[in-house]
This record gives sequence, structure tokens and C-alpha cells, in this order.
Amino acid sequence: MESFHFEGVEIAPGSGVEVSLELGEGPTGNPRSIPVYVMHGTKPGPVLALTAGIHGDELNGVSVVHHLIHGDDHVAGTEDDRISREDLAGTLICVPVVNIEGMLLEQREAPDHKDINRLFPGKKQGNQSQRIAYALFQAVVKRADYLIDLHSAPLSRTNLPHVRANFEKDKCMELARAFGTHIILHSSGPKGSLRRTATNDGTPTILLEAGTAHRFEMEAVHSGIEGVLNVMGHLGMIVRENRLPAVRLLVRRSKWARAEAGGLLYSLVDVGDHVKKGQEIALVTDPLGEQTHSIESPRTGVIVGLALNPLVRAGDPIANIVLCSAAKWKRAQSEMNAENPEEEAVDDEEALDDA
Ligand SMILES: [Zn+2]
Repeated sequence: MESFHFEGVEIAPGSGVEVSLELGEGPTGNPRSIPVYVMHGTKPGPVLALTAGIHGDELNGVSVVHHLIHGDDHVAGTEDDRISREDLAGTLICVPVVNIEGMLLEQREAPDHKDINRLFPGKKQGNQSQRIAYALFQAVVKRADYLIDLHSAPLSRTNLPHVRANFEKDKCMELARAFGTHIILHSSGPKGSLRRTATNDGTPTILLEAGTAHRFEMEAVHSGIEGVLNVMGHLGMIVRENRLPAVRLLVRRSKWARAEAGGLLYSLVDVGDHVKKGQEIALVTDPLGEQTHSIESPRTGVIVGLALNPLVRAGDPIANIVLCSAAKWKRAQSEMNAENPEEEAVDDEEALDDA
């Protein structure tokens, strides 16, 4: 096995090395860089890249990458490390925080208030955000055979962990199925997003949406860890018995229940709950706490996205509901390790105007 060369650093087979992507100086002359950890195996295999924190306030993905590098105890080189550098086939490029300064500012965007995830493939001579996109794209995306981009909902909402992928791209769907969430949502990704741009450039990319922003939520983090390891097992990078759900829903369109009146929101459900059409899923109250309005589910299905912000205006989205029968969702929850998950295509035509 040969060494892996990354940004002028040589990574020997069976080792993991920290490397920096230099971005130039900040306002106080401080060096700015993106930390990258490269694990290079002792056997041939693909190059898989993980990116998190491209939105600086979305932290669950950051924790997913932490656990994959150093295990649950966060101590280097101990028993609980999930990926043995010696047994690894191929190379894993980990980028735990792309948007370092956005993270420090506790915000989604870079300091120039631009969304880096709309600026790919970036510009070498562009503005500060375009340069971050460019540095990541050239150093990481161009080197990777596959990419998993880790996200969460904004602070005002939360998401049941699910994968987003372009259903028209076979390689993306292969990764999405291997990842192993119950729900896979179809979208090609916004223009300029890392996922769309990388996929079109020849690096099939999927995206994980898990939990909310500004938090390490261990349930969401663990779904990300398991999913990445499932993908690595599928690609032959590690030896692993993949845990796949008994049922998965391939969702082209889903419908948001919306508030018809403003007020202060009390949710009666959680993500992952199954609800029946007409079931009361939230209350809206006046400033004294008296109920003024009730929100009913427009669908029988599963809550995949949910509003967390109690402040509601008429028209605000409250719950994203994916069509599914109660029996099917119960089966999906109770059985794992299915070799060939039962798949159901969900295309909620009435949700057309929700996009
Ligand atoms: Zn995001």
C-alpha cells in the first residue's frame, strides 16, 4: 500500500493525521484554516469524505465525525475507536467543521453572512465564503469517490434523522440505502449546494438531516455514526454487519401541516410519531395561555420535521408529515437487520404547493 498525499502531507498506511486547509488571515492577523483528519488504511479501497458544520450552527454532524475519529471516550487510540486504522480499506477524509468562523459566531453563515452551501464549487479569487467553498472543493471533494454531508434543522425546527439524495442518481441511492435511515427524501439539492455540485462533478453525495442546531443530541448523533459505518461497510472499507431497517420510505413529496392562526405553540407530538388524519397535533394559545386554535394533521403518516419555536404566525409550517400506515411504521420501528428492506414509494400529490 502506498501513502496518501493530502495538501503536501504524507499519510502512511495504517495511520491517521491531522492536516489544515489554509484560508488566509483573519482580522487580527490570526491564521484561518479548516481542520481535516485523514485516516489511511492498509488495504486498497475507496476515498470517502465526511463534511460537517458547513452551516456553523449545525453541530450534531460535528459530533458524528468526532465519534468516528476518536470513539465515545474522545481519547485517541483507545479500544472504543470505531475505525481501526490498520484494518481500514481505503481512505476516510474527515472535516468536522467546515465553517469554523460561523461556528464561533453561532450562526449558519460565514462572517460575511453568506451561506457557503450555496456557493460551490467556489472561486479561487472570490469573496471569503467562495474561497472557503473553493478550498474544500479542491482539496476534499476532488479527491473523494463518495461524500456524506452532515446537517441538522435550524434552531426553530427539528428533524427525524433522514437522508436526502437525488433519486435519479443510482450511486447516490446506493449510498442512501446503505446508510440505513427509515426515511429517504428525494431532492437534487439547491443550486450551489455541496451535495448537488459534488454529485454533478462525479462524487456521489448524500446528506444527513438529524435533529436541531446549537446542540449535541446523542440520539441524532448515533444515527449519523451508525449510518456512516453502514456506508463504509457497504463500500468494503470496514468489516461490518450492517443494520438496515425492515421498512424504508422513499419520499418524493411530503406535506407540512401549517398554522392557520398565529399565537404561542404547544406541540402534542414528537418527530418519529405516527399520527392519524384529523388528529390534533398542536395547540395555539393567546398570550395568557388560553387555546385559540387547534392544528390537526392533514395526513396519516409519520412526523419527520417539527417546529420548535413557540412563536407562530399564520402560515408557518408546524409539522412535516410523510404518508405511512400505522402498521407499516410499527413494523419499521420494531424490526432491524433486514437483508432486503421493504420499500415504499411515497409521493404525496397534494403536497405540490409545499415545495
Ligand atoms: Zn445545514
